[in-house]
Amino acid sequence: MLTNDQLAAWDRENFFHPSTHLAQHARGETPSRIITGASGVHIEDRDGRKLLDAFAGLYCVNAGYGRREITDAIAAQAAELAYYHSYVGHGTETSITLAKMVMDRAPDHMSKVYFGLGGSDANETNVKLVWYYNNILGRPAKKKIISRWRGYHGSGLMTGSLTGLELFHKKFDLPLANVLHTTAPDYFRRAELSLSEAEFTAQCAADLEALIAREGADTIAAFIAEPLLGTGGIVPPPAGYWEAIQPILEKHDILLIADEVVTGFGRLGTMFGSEHYGLKPDLITIAKGLTSAYAPLSGSIVSERMWKVLEEGTDEFGPFGHGWTYSAHPIGAAAGVANLALIDRLGLVGNAEKVGAHLLAGLRDALGAHAHVGDVRGEGMLAAVEFVKDRETRAFFDPSEKVGARIAAELAGLGVIARAMPQGDILGFAPPLCLSAVEADEVVDKTAQAVLNVLG
Ligand code: PLP
Repeated sequence: MLTNDQLAAWDRENFFHPSTHLAQHARGETPSRIITGASGVHIEDRDGRKLLDAFAGLYCVNAGYGRREITDAIAAQAAELAYYHSYVGHGTETSITLAKMVMDRAPDHMSKVYFGLGGSDANETNVKLVWYYNNILGRPAKKKIISRWRGYHGSGLMTGSLTGLELFHKKFDLPLANVLHTTAPDYFRRAELSLSEAEFTAQCAADLEALIAREGADTIAAFIAEPLLGTGGIVPPPAGYWEAIQPILEKHDILLIADEVVTGFGRLGTMFGSEHYGLKPDLITIAKGLTSAYAPLSGSIVSERMWKVLEEGTDEFGPFGHGWTYSAHPIGAAAGVANLALIDRLGLVGNAEKVGAHLLAGLRDALGAHAHVGDVRGEGMLAAVEFVKDRETRAFFDPSEKVGARIAAELAGLGVIARAMPQGDILGFAPPLCLSAVEADEVVDKTAQAVLNVLG
């Protein structure tokens, strides 16, 4: 067996890690962790440490770790038929079954699901679908996509452009043309502190109207948004936000892409975030929770109104020229079928609502009054604590102090993983949906301890 030192050396020499400070990692300055196993809500590393993973990997292991129902289904599928493609009408029993299961759970006005591999490629597909749709309708100028600052939609060329976080643009020559960003629906971070929540919602709507007026509605194809901001800070929308935004999109014939990579399949305590916030999207992006990350799989769920146009398009212009070799991969599909069945059987959507509310209440009780806690927020099995230098003035810490990262590191030392979100001093929680109330209490207690240790 390789020694830990040997593995760490190979890691530094050979492995190009995503979203990592490359130089610090290569010099061995950043903490690295080699994971060897996991069960329920816990992961175990090579040093024998067991940690409660209160971020479910990257908010994806929704069913929890080590589920035999899913791993057995994957093994059986691999033995029977590890691969066949889904081009020109081919399918497998599992991919067809999964499509049916997804559509049975999707909002009623949705029609079909296209399968990809991850959230980024699903959103690339969505943008192409939107462009194709408008070309078929004879509207070649209606192509721009609006997303929000602090939105996260992936790291590809187009999806990295849609993502509204500086880190994902800086030095990559992004965003690309045809991408516009509008106000982040983040009430805590509003520019004018004097605004009420209702006034801030009205401002978000007015900013969107102004952007559409400036660019011309006939140039804008779609608005992409997570039902609630995820990687941008786990921020539920301000009251009335979706009620204000959707009519604007309808008025200007702008399609809505609901990016439900995080919120799909139960995280908000409802099967979809669209249901939770009353959205009527034209496209829904799904990934993570579709397979609980036991195998890579994503999807683009297409509405009936878009589907009709896509069908007409192929009658007029020939086959739909878009596909991945691994679209609807049978192993991913097998994981998806077993995972969705398990989520139902264990009642994980209801548990996300119940235990999520308990977790949020616990975090509020433990930290709501702390001198450096500006906001404690959440929805379903998602929560965040945002730290500030001064509560009264809402002054933030200087980023060089790395307050969020230090608290996350301290918390990991106490045995709980939460995520220091990439922009701001924000500690994010997105545990597996099977978290128990007792485990939620452990997360709260250790978080309070970590905050005390770092900030006093
Ligand atoms: N969309 C949202 C809302 C996400 O949170 C993510 C990833 O975190 C993505 C898209 C991109 O998914 P992936 O990393 O699988 O490409």
